[in-house]
Amino acid sequence: MTDVTADLARRFARALEQLRVSHELQYVSTRPLPEPDHSAIPVIPVIDDVHDAAPEAHASTSASQPEPSAPRSPMVPPSSRVAASSEASPREPDLFTPAPEPAPPAPEPVLDEQDQARRRSLREAAQRWTPAEKLEYLRVHNVGDCQRCPLARTRNRIVFGVGAAQADVMFVGEAPGADEDRQGEPFVGRAGQLLNQWLVQLGLSREDVYIANVLKCRPPGNRDPRPEEVDRCSPFLQAQIRAIEPKVIVALGRHAGMLLSGREEMTLRAMRQGRLYYDAGVAKGDAGAAKGDAGAAKDPASARVLIPLVVTYHPAYVLRQEGDGPSPTTGRASATDMVMTDLRRALAIARGNL
Ligand code: SF4
Repeated sequence: MTDVTADLARRFARALEQLRVSHELQYVSTRPLPEPDHSAIPVIPVIDDVHDAAPEAHASTSASQPEPSAPRSPMVPPSSRVAASSEASPREPDLFTPAPEPAPPAPEPVLDEQDQARRRSLREAAQRWTPAEKLEYLRVHNVGDCQRCPLARTRNRIVFGVGAAQADVMFVGEAPGADEDRQGEPFVGRAGQLLNQWLVQLGLSREDVYIANVLKCRPPGNRDPRPEEVDRCSPFLQAQIRAIEPKVIVALGRHAGMLLSGREEMTLRAMRQGRLYYDAGVAKGDAGAAKGDAGAAKDPASARVLIPLVVTYHPAYVLRQEGDGPSPTTGRASATDMVMTDLRRALAIARGNL
């Protein structure tokens, strides 16, 4: 044995001794270890907590190159992401397909010549109708059992309007309340009684004026009208105004004033002091000035009929301020005083004195 071989044998013996010590004196064979059997090692699924995907999804891809992950969005729930990265589940909504285009609006009904002729003659006849006949046609045939907005489901009765069809002064409130909804007539509760008192002070009665609301049905709980309700219902009021052709319109409350003047930015105080008009649209024939020039005026530039609009407090507001008792003497004008000033101005306009 050469020195080199003897040296190697000593080193090996030392290493073997160290192995015995480190392995608690168990036998360690000097034979080479067998090759590992990879087929016996179970595949451990890798949980990718970043992608938050289900183990099965990864198990299916662990043996090959991983599939590119689906685009991630905080709005998409994890289950949907898995479906998008593997295969779409029939129950999951397909979040990546654009929504279908809305259906085109239904085409206007095609009127045959007979229908068109009938409509033309009805329109021509309507030009000759009295205001009362126009209002009645509107009430029966146009408003009818109106279902144009959701208020139809909660109302008891439609509150169309009441008074003289040829009135010079037309009062417009915002919407019916509980009493009006029960009786089908505008301004019949305590607020209506106060309005009657104001009219008496002016030497008028309910039969001398016309009273209506912007909305014909009561909003539940007397909440403010919604824009879509006003949008749906206001054509009826516009038609009433066209039929009556008042010389002046009195809006009761800020909402009615705002809706009739279109001046959403104005406070009620500003509307009371301003010079406002209701735009009744383009004149047909001489309709706008049929009652003389005292009230309705034509805008010369466009031939639009502009009806003077006076805005004042709603009687319900005055009742809340003053109750049923006499006006408090505070040195300032009471709400009732201010209303009477506004109503006298409206009457003066109607009589051609302003
Ligand atoms: S509020 Fe006007 S539009 Fe709405 S259901 Fe009543 S009448 Fe029709």
